[in-house]
Amino acid sequence: VIRLTVLGSCGTYPAPGRACSGYLLEAGEPGERPTRVWVDSGSGTLANLLLRTRLDELDAIWLSHLHIDHCSDLPLAYYTLKYGDSERTTPLPVFGPSGWGQHMAAFLTADTRSEARDVTDVFEVNELGAGAHVRIGGLNLSAFATRHSVETWAVRATAGGRTIAYSADTGPCEALAVLADQADLFVCEAAWAQSLQTEPIHCNPLDAGEWAARAGARRLVLTHLRPDADPRAAVAGAAEAYGGEVGAAAEGDVYELGAGP
Ligand SMILES: [Zn+2]
Repeated sequence: VIRLTVLGSCGTYPAPGRACSGYLLEAGEPGERPTRVWVDSGSGTLANLLLRTRLDELDAIWLSHLHIDHCSDLPLAYYTLKYGDSERTTPLPVFGPSGWGQHMAAFLTADTRSEARDVTDVFEVNELGAGAHVRIGGLNLSAFATRHSVETWAVRATAGGRTIAYSADTGPCEALAVLADQADLFVCEAAWAQSLQTEPIHCNPLDAGEWAARAGARRLVLTHLRPDADPRAAVAGAAEAYGGEVGAAAEGDVYELGAGP
């Protein structure tokens, strides 16, 4: 069984009572302790994560990129693990883009005249690269570089023969066809209501639908919609290019694949 819980789905900035990008990815058979990975730690997602699990019960964190709407709760995860009642005795593995550890250390350093705080007492620093594969418990995670304004790693997660692909932030690009190839669930960003006359560093709903269709994904969920976007219009836009089931992610949604009949 592989399961994705939406902790936050707002694009770029939060909406009242809602969170920016973040997901809880879990894998395991019923009755077993699941493998748990927190994917993106946008504003508000830590509080939503803690409704479902303790931080010291995570196996890893996956940080797609360093835009603040995807990582601003990571410094607070550091505080939670360091000053809370964590039972971890080893640093929590975090997989992210180049330099994420220094970036977080700088963010956590309140006095800019002092040395940056070291985060390696709490986090095990792992940097992603092209073709990176990570096996964590029953989960296989593969990194795909996307078309964005900074180094960004989408993730393809497989467990028990089922696949969930998450686009992170991206414009339309060939990597999406491989990322979401025959995926059971493709969670694709659609931050732009329509195409803008600039370098496409985000998808619009039609792009998401087109790439879901090209990849042969079995189900599409749009995410990272801006708070002022209309989810129903976004779903309709994606459905112009994609014939499968389309929805829009919202906090608390759970997608579970591979459970019995
Ligand atoms: Zn971004």
